[in-house]
Amino acid sequence: MLINSDYLSPNFNNKEVDMSFIVLHYTACSLKETLKIFLDPKSKVSAHFVIDVDGKIYNCVEINKSAWHSGQSCFSDTQNKDLKNFNDFSIGIELVNLNGNLFNYSEHQYDSLFYLVKYLQTKYPLLKDPNKILGHEHIAGFRGKADPGYFFDWKKLFAICYENQTPPIRKPIISSEILKKYQSQLKQKDINFKALNQSLEKTLNQNYNKSKVG
Ligand SMILES: [Zn+2]
Repeated sequence: MLINSDYLSPNFNNKEVDMSFIVLHYTACSLKETLKIFLDPKSKVSAHFVIDVDGKIYNCVEINKSAWHSGQSCFSDTQNKDLKNFNDFSIGIELVNLNGNLFNYSEHQYDSLFYLVKYLQTKYPLLKDPNKILGHEHIAGFRGKADPGYFFDWKKLFAICYENQTPPIRKPIISSEILKKYQSQLKQKDINFKALNQSLEKTLNQNYNKSKVG
C-alpha cells in the first residue's frame, strides 16, 4: 500500500522517541481541511497519519518524532500506572469522519488502518499488545473528546490486528442519551458540523465535571 508523504507537518518535536501506544481519532472535518490545519504552524496540531474515506494514507509526521495529537491526556494502564502526555510516546492516527458518533467509517478506512497498525507493530513490537491502542476519548474524555466514537468497530480491529489475544474494554464515552440527542439533529438541513462538534465536546465535558461533583 502506498503512503503519501507530500504533506509533512511542521508541528512536531524533533527529539527521537520510542513509541509504545497508538491513539485513534476522527478528524471532525474533511481531508483537505485536516491537511491544511496540519500544515499550518500556527495551529500547533498534527498527527502521524491521516486515513481518508477512500483508504488513502497520508503520513504527516515521522513515526519516531512526537506529533501533537493528544493534548492534555491521562490513562491508567494495566498496572494502574497513570500515564500522561500521550504525545510523548504515542502514534496518532486520524480517520477522516465528520463525527464517528454519528457516521460510520468506510471499509477502505478499516483496511488501511489494519494495514498501518500491522506495519507499526513490525517497527515497534510493543504495539503488538492490544492494551497499547486507545481512542482519544479514553485518554482525554475528561476534556470532552469523543473520538473515534460510537461507530468505530474495536472488535474488528482486535480480531484482525491482535489475533488470539484477549482484547481490553474500549467503550465509546458518549452516553446513549446524548447520542440520541445529536442523532436527531441530523434531520436538520445544512448542519454546521464545527458547531455541532464543539457543542458535543462541551456537553461531554460538563457531564464529566457533574459526575465528579455528584
Ligand atoms: Zn482526537
